[in-house]
Amino acid sequence: MSTLKRRLKQLREDMAALELDAAIVTALPNVRYLSGFTGSNGSLLVTGRGATLFTDPRYTLQARTETAGSGVRVVIAKGPIEPALAGRLGKQKRVGFENQRMSYRTWEHFEKALPAGAAMKPLGAALETRRMVKSEEETAAIRESVNINSQAFAAALTRFRAGMTENDFAAEIEYQMRLLGAEKPAFDTIVAFKKNSALPHARPGNTRLDGNGLLLVDMGTFRGGYASDMTRCVHLGKPSAKTRKLYEAVLEAQLAGVDAVRPGVTAGSVDDVTRGVLRKHGLDKAFVHSTGHGLGLEIHEAPRLGKADATALQAGMAITIEPGAYVEGTGGVRIEDTVLTTPTGVSILTPTAKELVIL
Ligand code: ZN
Ligand code: ZN
Repeated sequence: MSTLKRRLKQLREDMAALELDAAIVTALPNVRYLSGFTGSNGSLLVTGRGATLFTDPRYTLQARTETAGSGVRVVIAKGPIEPALAGRLGKQKRVGFENQRMSYRTWEHFEKALPAGAAMKPLGAALETRRMVKSEEETAAIRESVNINSQAFAAALTRFRAGMTENDFAAEIEYQMRLLGAEKPAFDTIVAFKKNSALPHARPGNTRLDGNGLLLVDMGTFRGGYASDMTRCVHLGKPSAKTRKLYEAVLEAQLAGVDAVRPGVTAGSVDDVTRGVLRKHGLDKAFVHSTGHGLGLEIHEAPRLGKADATALQAGMAITIEPGAYVEGTGGVRIEDTVLTTPTGVSILTPTAKELVIL
């Protein structure tokens, strides 16, 4: 059975469990996951028997090409998609929708267009839960994305010049990604120097990368539709003893977190491990986000490796391990790898070394 047919079959199993006759899928990563369609406007109607992709005339050729062999029919809607799709519901009464994702406006449009007697019912995170476990093809795509990301980092470092701004260096990184075959960055590249590194989601600005200080780089690419994610720290000039200590503590937490990954353990327990190491170093209050997240067709996917997350890890889950500690005045350190849960434990996909690079 082809990958897309298998995914549609799994969705139908979930629909049966939720007592749904049909499902409307509008979140583009889910549309892509089920149909192969990568356009920016498309919705999928899945019933017990068939699946139909609705898109607009800009995508006539692309939709037919990308869904070829999947068994998904294509309908080119001349006007809005919602009434075109609702018009095909026929006798389906209980219609699932992505209640965690659909905008209220889209929901209203569907609700208005539904045939008499039909009602919208929550599909919950059924698709996101299926997407947590990656197939071999998906894992291969993530590996490729991760490798390009690491190569782009190495190439950008060779082009580093003191006096560049954070923005200059972020542009260099994203340029290298493209040259190496990435479709685009998976998120806005973070380049944060000195006190800016203490902001976990800093935006690169005009701060000059000059003198002595800690430089945090968080970067990811999309390749073949799949994301990668990595954070590394670099130090300009000799790091102080305080910075070294901070770095070593976060590295110890990161290594312990990676080590804790294996099938059966909960996402929350991996978070406990990294948090425990940072607590030992008096840095638990400086760790202000969760330990990591799944990634795939989106940069942030389930599971979330946060406090008390009860999701049990399974072989095939691609996740990040990224503890950090942010100290006002000293700066922030985060170290992040993309890793894969394997049947026996974990495989670190990110090939970049984790020693503090000194420039
Ligand atoms: Zn990241
Ligand atoms: Zn991340």
